[in-house]
Amino acid sequence: MRCAVVRRPGPPSVFEIEDVELQPLGPRDVRVEVARCGVSSRDLVERQGIYQRDVTYPVVMGLEIAGTVIEVGPDVPDAGVVPGTRICTKAFSSCGHCRLCRTGRESTCFARRPVRGGYGESTVLDWDAVVPIPDAIDWDQASWLGPAAGVGLNAVRDTAKVTSGETVLVLGASGAVGSASVQLARLSGARVISVTRHLAKREALLEDGASDVVVTDDDLLAAVASVRELTDGYGVDVVIDTVGSRMFQLGFDALAVHGRYAFVGELHGEEISINPARIFFKRAALLGVGSVSRAQVEDVIDITVAGHLRARIDSVLPLEQITRAHERAEDYETSGRILIAPGRQ
Ligand SMILES: [Zn+2]
Repeated sequence: MRCAVVRRPGPPSVFEIEDVELQPLGPRDVRVEVARCGVSSRDLVERQGIYQRDVTYPVVMGLEIAGTVIEVGPDVPDAGVVPGTRICTKAFSSCGHCRLCRTGRESTCFARRPVRGGYGESTVLDWDAVVPIPDAIDWDQASWLGPAAGVGLNAVRDTAKVTSGETVLVLGASGAVGSASVQLARLSGARVISVTRHLAKREALLEDGASDVVVTDDDLLAAVASVRELTDGYGVDVVIDTVGSRMFQLGFDALAVHGRYAFVGELHGEEISINPARIFFKRAALLGVGSVSRAQVEDVIDITVAGHLRARIDSVLPLEQITRAHERAEDYETSGRILIAPGRQ
């Protein structure tokens, strides 16, 4: 089985394509033939060594998996998961019976296991990490549903609780979670403002449903002034921040009083600093958005089938071009997901 292995953190050139033995299948595991795997922000920060939780080397990365179940362990309890089932993945599997799982908070399950292995022809996953998809969804769309669109739904609908008539600022709107967040916030009846550094991305953001796109260079104060101007001086009700530390000041300055600030990603691993008085003067709510539940993945599947959500795909590359894929993803010049197609599907 061919896969792209990382033995130590480093630049995109650290990938080595290797032929390895098939992993053993546990009683509650499924083996999945990988059709597509998205190059996600988590892959980038894991490869760079910025994100170190649950990472041990050597590692085969890749969590945004779409593929076909080809083998099922004897204790897999879901009768709907059999050889031949087309699936997408959550970002983690959870146990299903701890206190957190039983109270709808499965993404923080104490026994959670990260999904990885999408940068290979096949991978072994806990059955709980896979979610069946209908035939109407093609492989390119499917790989985007769980850890990208599903996290966007978690951010917009379930954490920030965006409602009709509100104004939402999406930071990092050209990324996969950002694009989903723009589409879903618009679907909720909100007005969406996006900020980008690249004029070339403006059209795509408008297509996703942004009402206004602020193009900024490094002058973040000017960007804040533009957002304030677009909101008659009030600022935005909600910030969905998929970039993290380097955009925090812009996002918080643009937030209206009583606003909600949802942290979805951290691309640079840097600290932020803020005078606490600014938080309570603004009556701001700071919210952490984490991962995605099975119910949220199922909901984005339904929303996609209904035609209200679609993945923005930049390109599909073979496994041998994984270094190139990471170089392109890392320069943030792309508008849409880069997908790896490791196998025959
Ligand atoms: Zn649990």
